[in-house]
Amino acid sequence: MVRAIVGANWGDEGKGKITDMLAEESDIIVRFQGGSNAGHTIINDYGKFALHLLPSGVFYDHTTSVIGNGVALNIPYLINELKDITSKGVPMPKVLVSDRTQILMPYHILFDQYEEERLGGKSFGSTKSGIAPFYSDKYAKIGFQVSELFDEPDAIREKIDHVLSIKNVLVEHLYHKEKIKAEDVFNELMQYKEMIAPYVCDTSAFLHDALKEGKTVLLEGQLGSLKDPDFGIYPMVTSSSTLASYGAIGAGIPGYEIKDVITVVKAYSSAVGAGEFVSEIFGDEADQLRRRGGDGGEFGATTGRPRRMGWFDAVATRYGCRIQGATEVALTVLDVLGYLDELPVCTGYEIDGVVTDQFPTTRLLKKAKPVYTKLPGWKCDIRGIRRYEDLPENCRNYIEFIEKQIGVPVTMVSNGPKRHDIIFRR
Ligand code: GDP
Repeated sequence: MVRAIVGANWGDEGKGKITDMLAEESDIIVRFQGGSNAGHTIINDYGKFALHLLPSGVFYDHTTSVIGNGVALNIPYLINELKDITSKGVPMPKVLVSDRTQILMPYHILFDQYEEERLGGKSFGSTKSGIAPFYSDKYAKIGFQVSELFDEPDAIREKIDHVLSIKNVLVEHLYHKEKIKAEDVFNELMQYKEMIAPYVCDTSAFLHDALKEGKTVLLEGQLGSLKDPDFGIYPMVTSSSTLASYGAIGAGIPGYEIKDVITVVKAYSSAVGAGEFVSEIFGDEADQLRRRGGDGGEFGATTGRPRRMGWFDAVATRYGCRIQGATEVALTVLDVLGYLDELPVCTGYEIDGVVTDQFPTTRLLKKAKPVYTKLPGWKCDIRGIRRYEDLPENCRNYIEFIEKQIGVPVTMVSNGPKRHDIIFRR
């Protein structure tokens, strides 16, 4: 059985916590897209961790963690992350890396930096992890697949020369920086080969066999629907698909194997980087929510940047759930909202004087103004509550209002950052 855990919003919905929790009853956890550009914060018995590349199932000794072919693999980053968790007492996890995963090179990170520099004030607010240059190269067929590390040295050198003949034109004439040297790239690849060799296998075949044996597989998404390159707020999106359907491709399994799409929805909104955000709030109102949000404030797990804050956006979330094919919703960080007298929920967008509940393309999104419905607050701390009936009435009303708006059952309510801060509602 395969379940995908994906985000309905701009990312940072708390997917890591939900994955870590569900991994307890799963056999295999797969990362299928993205790279080290976004982080999952996980709090468990070993401590607090910000994982960027490792799947959020690495804290159990019964699970296998898979880096799927769809991932942007920064090899030294992965090895350091493994070192970091094991140095904090976590037993060495079982990690498998697909032989079809492509390698994120140091020059991808440089290209990301050069491009942000070149764009100046018009930049995308990239985390500068090399993700856009990496995926551009993958689809331009000038990337390096893990399997290619095991080619003959002459063949590797020949490929490097071909790649650099293209890349160095940009380095020299667009960015006016020092050219990339073939020998450096070769040496890097040889170091990477040594680091990654113990983990490499055909993970698609591994997953095929595991599914035949009836194993439970979790696909762990990064970011959320609104950052998807096709269905998100293009061009302020990421460079790999954030959707559950892509999980099949990025892991190498048939699409029909995904039986459950757990879509993680945040009880308010937050976003990092630039881009359309209709229910965004500013000033003291935003500062207060940012300070109280998540676990110790809403600041980026990768960059430490303050996140942009906003009220719950039912228009964006309904769309985000639809595009994910959500079968159930985990509503997270609800505990944070206990301080509010009333909770505005964005239930419509006013565009050119007309109110719509449909999420439009970016061109129209730029003109959208939020239309709010206000719900009364519950004015107390709901952490520690384990039964849905024990939540204050106004809190249940908020959950049920959201559920009705998005049209997908809310089966889990997360009321704290820890693994077992969860209310099941089936
Ligand atoms: P992800 O990328 O979707 O995994 O999300 P992040 O890890 O970037 O952000 C979620 C943040 O919220 C983390 O700091 C979590 O520890 C925290 N978190 C997750 N669920 C809850 C919750 O129910 N309540 C609170 N207060 N914090 C939560």
